Amino acid sequence: MSDLVTCPAAPRLALDGDSRHFPVGRVFCIGRNYADHAKEMGEAAEAIFFTKPASAVSTAPALPYPGETEDLHHEVELVLALGEGGEIIACGTGVDLTKRDLQARLKAKGAPWEIAKGFDRSAPMGALRLGPPPASGAITLSVNGTPRQSGDLEQMILPPAALLQQLARYFTLQPGDLIFTGTPAGVSALLPGDVVSARIDGLPPLDFTLTERR
Ligand code: MN
Repeated sequence: MSDLVTCPAAPRLALDGDSRHFPVGRVFCIGRNYADHAKEMGEAAEAIFFTKPASAVSTAPALPYPGETEDLHHEVELVLALGEGGEIIACGTGVDLTKRDLQARLKAKGAPWEIAKGFDRSAPMGALRLGPPPASGAITLSVNGTPRQSGDLEQMILPPAALLQQLARYFTLQPGDLIFTGTPAGVSALLPGDVVSARIDGLPPLDFTLTERR
């Protein structure tokens, strides 16, 4: 039996020090997992979950500034990668790009956030490193060399194990799942031409440039 259409292949992430790749199945995200970021957004520090399509994942070194926003924000995040049985097998550095102006309008209407969070190339990712996630360590993001976000993984309200437990109430976690674990304070707007450098102690780095709008 042949398929009616051919779907685009899933994005694949490189593994640091390993020739294999991690194929991305689904992308789950948690919001408000650092109290200082929840505070800067004027929200209660209560975890909320949302998803991005796998097609949001990008490993390209240059991304076009997306349309339908004048206020694109960066959110640096520890990303967990799940293997057989839904266990964490690797982790890496990601950025949850957010159309903040569009998200604010959706929030005001009580509408879903997908178009502000799950757009194409909204989840730039670095390589993954095999092994458990670090329990502590610096998580930072700079733009054109200027520090914007700085926190420590130990500030997470729901650390990885607790986060997986919460998520598993709603979804059967499976191999290929990525989980963005939330961002510390300091989110701010990006402009075309900006060079973004995201770092988490002990994990492969993530660098990308925003190119002109198209
Ligand atoms: Mn986020």
